[in-house]
Amino acid sequence: MAKWFFGKSSKADAGVLPGARMARAGATVAAKLTFDAVTKAYGERPAVDGLSLEIAPGEVVCLLGPSGCGKTTLLRLAVGVERPSGGRILINDREVAGAGRFVQPEDRGVGLMFQDFALFPHLTILENVAFGLRALPREDARREALLILSRVGLERYAEQYPHILSGGQQQRVALARAIVPRPAVMLMDEPFSGLDVQLRDAMQEETLALIRETRATSMIVTHHPEEAMRLGDRIAVMRAGRLVQTGSAEELYRRPAALFVARLFSEINEMEMQVAGGRIATPIGALPAPGLADGTLATLCIRERGISVVPAGGNGKAAHGAPLKGRVRNAKFLGDAVRYEVVAEGFDAPLNVRVAAGEAILKGSEVLLEIDPGQALVFPSHDDKTP
Ligand code: ADP
Ligand code: MG
Repeated sequence: MAKWFFGKSSKADAGVLPGARMARAGATVAAKLTFDAVTKAYGERPAVDGLSLEIAPGEVVCLLGPSGCGKTTLLRLAVGVERPSGGRILINDREVAGAGRFVQPEDRGVGLMFQDFALFPHLTILENVAFGLRALPREDARREALLILSRVGLERYAEQYPHILSGGQQQRVALARAIVPRPAVMLMDEPFSGLDVQLRDAMQEETLALIRETRATSMIVTHHPEEAMRLGDRIAVMRAGRLVQTGSAEELYRRPAALFVARLFSEINEMEMQVAGGRIATPIGALPAPGLADGTLATLCIRERGISVVPAGGNGKAAHGAPLKGRVRNAKFLGDAVRYEVVAEGFDAPLNVRVAAGEAILKGSEVLLEIDPGQALVFPSHDDKTP
């Protein structure tokens, strides 16, 4: 596979290319993109439901959420192929969609890259890329298109048709086509979902390098948490048309605002418990259940990686109070980690424990478990039931 960037760094400066003919992508004046209480209703249930989000100039935000939660609809609203039923969309504080105003897609400076690349089969690769430059004189459009094609390492295919390209090459052409008009805002709808796993890593790095080079404000849709963590300066987690939480990968991992978010970012053990006196009584001690009424159900979450396990009878020392006794019911080798299923004192159901693959603990072994109560998370259980 032809590489068109240097090394594995995702910094913009790493985007210098081998070969003198390679050009850099032209820079854009990045814009701020604002969703202000935006709603889009199709029939009864809104696809986007009062969503507010501000993306800073040049920022890359990953929009993460399950299928059907409204991600594509949000992009379509921003680009202007859909009109909001309520709320406003602003670019650099200028309203582009709202009650009294609707700016046409071609006048917004917003680029959209479709999920399935959507290349035109009957146009050459060069014509595909030049498609976004119809406003320019033909020769200028050709020159610009060739420049960006060379930036993505595909200028030798300029006069060929898309069907001869591999998936990764088609993705590059689609990216080149979206970016060549130098949009101030670049939207990408699951840009890597059509690619093989092996290709995905390289394409993510390359795409990010190109976005950073153009400095376009970007929103990248994905339903893979790992992809979101890797690509986004910030991640916006969406569910059922609303934003659940927005923050850096680390914030979402360490301080998930809801059970739904906790589940996205780590493998967890979940246990339901009844709240009494503002707390839940757990095998690792009483834990606060802030904001939860007595008698309601709370879900205690313990990360699979937040539990340490040592063979019983060793001289392991407990860092967090007395260790719990347990017995390994099952052990699964997962490459870089091992997952033990441990029947532990005080817990009704076995706990999953994920540790770096080291010295194996055999099935049936007696073990000691340590769980840091400071790492445990408590959420209202109804979190889970609201769609
Ligand atoms: P996502 O991209 O997150 O998978 P979408 O934005 O495509 O979700 O869809 C969100 C919801 O809106 C879904 O329930 C979908 O069926 C509905 N929807 C999307 N587009 C239309 C449309 N043109 N007409 C009616 N319903 C739609
Ligand atoms: Mg979609």
